[in-house]
Amino acid sequence: MTANGTRVALRTAAVALAAMVFWCDSIAEIDASIAILYLLVPMLVAGAGGEGEIRLATGACIVLALLSWCLVHGAAPDSGNVLRVLFACVAIGVTGALLVSHQRLTAVREALETSRREMEHFADSVPQILWRSRPEGQIDFFNRAYADLTGRSIPDAIATQDWTPDLYPEEAPAFLAHTQACFEAGADIRTMYRLRHASGQYRWMLISARPVRDANGQVLAYYGSNTDVHDQVTMQEQVRELNATLETLVAERTAALTKEQVRNSSLFELSSISFAEMDFGATLPILEGLRRAGVRDLRAYFADHPDELARCLSLVRTTRVNTALAKLMGYADLAELAAKPPAENAEDGPEVQLQQLEMIYAGETTLNGHTVLIGKDGLRVPVYFSVSTLGDGLHLSSLVDLTERERIEELRRGAQAELARANRAATLGAYSASIAHELNQPVASLLMDARTGLRTLQGDAPNPELAARVLDRINQAAQRIAAIIARARDTIVAGDRPAEPVDLCALASELRELLERQLRAARATIEVTCAEGTPPVLADRVNLQQVLVNLVSNAADALRDSSGVRRILVSVQPEADGVEVRVEDTGPGIAEAHLDKLFQPFFTTKAGGIGMGLQICRSIVEGMGGRLEAGNRPEGGAWFRFVLVAADEDGAISAG
Ligand code: ADP
Repeated sequence: MTANGTRVALRTAAVALAAMVFWCDSIAEIDASIAILYLLVPMLVAGAGGEGEIRLATGACIVLALLSWCLVHGAAPDSGNVLRVLFACVAIGVTGALLVSHQRLTAVREALETSRREMEHFADSVPQILWRSRPEGQIDFFNRAYADLTGRSIPDAIATQDWTPDLYPEEAPAFLAHTQACFEAGADIRTMYRLRHASGQYRWMLISARPVRDANGQVLAYYGSNTDVHDQVTMQEQVRELNATLETLVAERTAALTKEQVRNSSLFELSSISFAEMDFGATLPILEGLRRAGVRDLRAYFADHPDELARCLSLVRTTRVNTALAKLMGYADLAELAAKPPAENAEDGPEVQLQQLEMIYAGETTLNGHTVLIGKDGLRVPVYFSVSTLGDGLHLSSLVDLTERERIEELRRGAQAELARANRAATLGAYSASIAHELNQPVASLLMDARTGLRTLQGDAPNPELAARVLDRINQAAQRIAAIIARARDTIVAGDRPAEPVDLCALASELRELLERQLRAARATIEVTCAEGTPPVLADRVNLQQVLVNLVSNAADALRDSSGVRRILVSVQPEADGVEVRVEDTGPGIAEAHLDKLFQPFFTTKAGGIGMGLQICRSIVEGMGGRLEAGNRPEGGAWFRFVLVAADEDGAISAG
């Protein structure tokens, strides 16, 4: 039967019982205390219904008992039946009251049980560890999180009360002492500690617990929670570290900037390089407006709107110039120069400023170029300029005077022409050897044919046919010889020059300048060392320079594809016999098989090489009484050396 069915049956039985008792009590006239049986009715109702129904049933039974008494004894009441009915009514009432309070107790017990289950469910579902301890700190409850996090068994942990396996070994004594002190003082606990998790990892936890007290303030128990705050703690640590790093960086940067600022301002004022600072700040809003209006090609736009360009340029101010610039432009007074409209200070001033506007527009930070400054009283100074942006529309220009450079350039062009001429002359010298070799064969065959011809003509039976053939061959040989000589003549352009005392150190120190382009292309550096007291040598200066140029350009060629350090060392020092010159490099060196071919004419390993350079060098050096030699350095790379006899004081070759 369902619970509902049982309740209906009990109610029905209660109504039937009440009716039966009423019938027996009022109709059957049984002279006994039947009314007492009404007690059973609220009992039956209590099994089926709630508090209200019990009250109703109790009340109804009392009414029925009194009604029966009225019906049976109303006419002749006596003290006996009055007492009986009163007794029955009291008994029914007391039973009803008892049943109601029982009902209430059951409801309270059920509610308690429900809330206990809810509490348990709640305690097990939170991620924190929850615990309860006795006042002196002995833990007697943990929720499931403790077992889940630590991997320990809760009953075991509670039984042993040993917390050391949970704690970070070094921190355990201090932590346990602190919590014990809190328990003893009855104080709140709030501290962080590291808990060993089931994985073996220690994670930071926040333990927070407080005592529960009775009305007298006596501690009954401690309730606490341990929350995992590891991520927050490590994050805070990282933030702290980051802050510390940032602080030191800011401090360092500020110090560096301050230093830089001091250095820059003194650099600006005292530098021998000319500086000018210009403020384009007022043009920035105009450029921004153009950008917003969709202008892409600033130059084209200004070409169509020259008034706007003029307005922009009129807004540019010179904010600072240094003494070096004022001097360069012939001004004694810095303020006089600064006050001039910037566009008037150079031949193409407006163009240079337009370029600066374009630089701003394109978001670039540097601009380089050439211009001619217009100084005081129309003074013209060719300069190389380099503009850098300093932010907020400030531009710093440094200007290098090219007057001196252009003069040097002129000199260099002259020196190179002289070198080329000497080169051709020296080539001729070297050519003579190869020409002699080339002439050898046709001259020998010509001589043989002449002899054969003579014999033919002088013999008893002259052979005109043979003589004609011989003469033809002689003709051919003579033509070849003429051709070879003609070719050689074409190369002759300059004659010999007299020897003079030459300072080899000075000659060597000009190499860097002379070969600048070639050295830059090979990304090679040249180091020239010259021993003190090196005497001059008696030589043809230009030819000697040609030798050095050849050796250093060969070294630069060798370094071109070299992957390591690219250095060329030229050293000049006195030697027993005179002056020694060495040219060494850090290139790949000379292949063993090539060492004895180097000085042969036309020996080359270069794609565009002629193979005459070293031969020319050798013949020049030999012509001056020296000898050119080559070899490989033990640490890698090639060396070339020659020794020339020193000249004595009056320019003659010294005895030794
Ligand atoms: P070219 O430079 O036209 O080749 P050179 O007579 O000057 O003619 O040089 C001949 C060859 O000697 C070069 O092709 C190169 O193989 C070798 N040589 C000369 N100088 C060096 C050097 N410093 N390192 C390695 N090889 C060199």
